[in-house]
Amino acid sequence: MFDKVLIANRGEIALRIQRACKELGIATVAVHSTADAEAMHVRLADDSVCIGPPPASESYLNIPRLLAACEITGADAVHPGYGFLSENARFAEILEEHNLTFIGPTSEHIRIMGDKIAAKDTARRLGIPCVPGSDGAVTSEKQALEVAAKMGFPVLVKAAAGGGGRGMKVANSAAEMGLALMTAKTEAKAAFGNDEVYIEKYLQKPRHIEIQVFGDGKGDAVHLGERDCSLQRRHQKVLEEAPSPALNAAQRLKIGETCADAMRKLKYRGAGTIEFLYEDGEFYFIEMNTRLQVEHPVTEAVTGYDLVLEQIRVAAGGSLSMRQEDITFSGHAIECRINAENARTFRPSPGQITYWHPPGGLGVRVDSGVYQGYRIPPYYDSLIGKLIVHGKTRNECLMRLRRALSEFVIDGIETTIPLFNELIRQPDIVNGVYDIHWLEKFLKAEG
Ligand code: ADP
Repeated sequence: MFDKVLIANRGEIALRIQRACKELGIATVAVHSTADAEAMHVRLADDSVCIGPPPASESYLNIPRLLAACEITGADAVHPGYGFLSENARFAEILEEHNLTFIGPTSEHIRIMGDKIAAKDTARRLGIPCVPGSDGAVTSEKQALEVAAKMGFPVLVKAAAGGGGRGMKVANSAAEMGLALMTAKTEAKAAFGNDEVYIEKYLQKPRHIEIQVFGDGKGDAVHLGERDCSLQRRHQKVLEEAPSPALNAAQRLKIGETCADAMRKLKYRGAGTIEFLYEDGEFYFIEMNTRLQVEHPVTEAVTGYDLVLEQIRVAAGGSLSMRQEDITFSGHAIECRINAENARTFRPSPGQITYWHPPGGLGVRVDSGVYQGYRIPPYYDSLIGKLIVHGKTRNECLMRLRRALSEFVIDGIETTIPLFNELIRQPDIVNGVYDIHWLEKFLKAEG
């Protein structure tokens, strides 16, 4: 097992990882930018190193500085969290070259899944169902039109290097193809420095359902069920739940087994999420994330397993602590992402938290890196916390969520709590009937 883990992240996820390390008796090193000197993850770590000025490119994304921080603190492993360098294959490689363990999959698997065309190709070979589309990249309008003619409009032009919903354009007809191709390519080039694009059938009313997988890197793998992340704004998740209101036990088992089996064949190591769109009873692979997800606590709530602890065990060369038959699903969990943003305009609202009262009680978990008096810096993602509620049934979970939201007080800044208060009163949400477009339509109708 490791003696000391450096956590190359900030905010709630840095604290989350520290908690798992502490339970395992592993010392922790926090890194931080000058803007985060007062952050909770710095205060609670055993050791901390300032690695640069506020811009992430000069601190949290700066590999030489992270290596230096490992060197001076004697850390023997690095947990990247999510975002930042968590899906940077080169970072994983460089750590290995310096005899440091990257707590995550192999650089090869990160690289394959980071390229959406290669990822889809791999998924297909492993027996995972995919969205119909082009075989690989599309290089001309003529070729794009041929692919679209085969599967029918609308189609989606997507960036091979895509992420965060960027570089995606819909073409509703042949006439729109030229423009969709050009704008997707331009956006992809600007965002990722790679203008390679491919084409997929545009699904009209799918749900976003993802499967949590775990592998030991030696051919053993399990799945921990699904999360439904259909409530999205600008392709970004807002609320997640497990189990999905759209699936029954047999469907869950079937898609879960397909994913676990694929991970066994791949000899995948660590935590991963296989993302699907789900429409009319069919699953369509869209991508795989080779890291811990923001929404992992809903899976922890319904399975009882600590996913970060599991990541660390496996990275240290251990085997999985569970067999597939040990994993059972209990009750229902919902996560709300609390952002420092106006709940209507979604304009970021950094500043000082003058009052902080998180909810508590049975089945309520708050993962956050903030505290009363803390000043939220304007430089990073606006996620300041996650409220995760667990109940025996979906109904109990919703009642508890309503109660927990009403207890949550955050003063001094604006947050997305009022949005969740509204959402959990909507009949469609209460009944679990929503697709990936529901939230955008709701926000538009509300003005
Ligand atoms: P990113 O890596 O940029 O997040 P994804 O491939 O994961 O891109 O897609 C993000 C979101 O975009 C999905 O959750 C879904 O809402 C939408 N999307 C992606 N592919 C399709 C598709 N073929 N049809 C309809 N919507 C899609």
